[in-house]
Amino acid sequence: MRYSGYMSNKNVEKLLNERAALLIELSSLSHLLHGSWVQRYSLCSRKDCKCHRGERHGPRHYLVVNRDGKQRQKYVPNSQVAAAQTGLTEYSRLSKIVDRITQINLDLMKEGAYED
Ligand SMILES: [Zn+2]
Repeated sequence: MRYSGYMSNKNVEKLLNERAALLIELSSLSHLLHGSWVQRYSLCSRKDCKCHRGERHGPRHYLVVNRDGKQRQKYVPNSQVAAAQTGLTEYSRLSKIVDRITQINLDLMKEGAYED
């Protein structure tokens, strides 16, 4: 790789290595979900059910996601709640990785080592 800056080759190398590692980490975020949780307690249609005397069913978990500019709530079954939580955690990691790669690329730009 060619570059022509004031930063030492070693530092550019370090940035390139860090960026490569972050890109590999990005590809591991397979449960990625961008959204937020809502929990709901509901009433069923059986009129003699305890839910109509204050003990509502739930919680049921929903993921609020944006699609076509609208907020939508998607039901998440209990068996998938833990995986979905992992997905939300992965999203926050994704944002941090994007911010860090942006900073690395700006540093590389300054050193003329971004175009290659
Ligand atoms: Zn009920």
